[in-house]
Amino acid sequence: MRRKLVVGNWKMFGRLARNKALLEGVMSGVSALRNTDCAVCVPYPYLGQVQTLLQGSNVAWGAQNMSQHEEGAYTGEVAPGMLLEFGCKYVILGHSERRGIYHEGDEMIALKFEAAIKAGLMPILCVGETLEERDAAVTEEVVARQLDAIVKKVGVKALENAVIAYEPVWAIGTGKTASPDQAQAVHAFIRQRVAKLDGQIAQGLCILYGGSVKAANAPELFSMPDIDGGLIGGASLVAEDFVAICRAGK
Ligand code: PEP
Repeated sequence: MRRKLVVGNWKMFGRLARNKALLEGVMSGVSALRNTDCAVCVPYPYLGQVQTLLQGSNVAWGAQNMSQHEEGAYTGEVAPGMLLEFGCKYVILGHSERRGIYHEGDEMIALKFEAAIKAGLMPILCVGETLEERDAAVTEEVVARQLDAIVKKVGVKALENAVIAYEPVWAIGTGKTASPDQAQAVHAFIRQRVAKLDGQIAQGLCILYGGSVKAANAPELFSMPDIDGGLIGGASLVAEDFVAICRAGK
């Protein structure tokens, strides 16, 4: 039985006082959870604050992106080793906002993924189709391409230390959620594709769903056999909503 995982993606939201209140609410709300792991991925400047507040709790933390380079003349970038110094466990890679707005392609994301694994960070690899792609019935083709680029670069065994997040782009921040059956179908497709290479890795692989997950729809989504939890944007900014979603993973 795979453990559930619920990860908050704060995106570019946060202020010191607000973060503190939010994290205190989350910590106390999930302190008794036994079968679900919880984490928050926050903007870089708040990693120190988050580390101080969450240390010793059962909420882990991470970043939302990183450089593929260890160090060097890359103005504005943040290296994997820097995230480790702030106690990060996770790093989100290939979020559709990075792919879409900042033109990060499969090749660059694969380099980042490789660098994260090498550093000992657990990458949360986001994959997912746009609305046009779903309408054109190429969802599986798109997800396969995004996944295969990573496996080709690092090998299937590396997925033992990684998380996949299926996030249909049309469901992110739009209030439109994939139905549990729609999400389950793509999750099963991902697991089967990995199973063709390594059955054991596929069986243990944590595959999150992301896209307008709320307290109301989380229980049904998380009850599907191949949905192992969620990557939560908007609802992770409200303590009681995020806590309710974490509790839905039990
Ligand atoms: C996300 O930011 O990855 C996300 C899924 O956002 P939301 O939950 O707001 O759709």
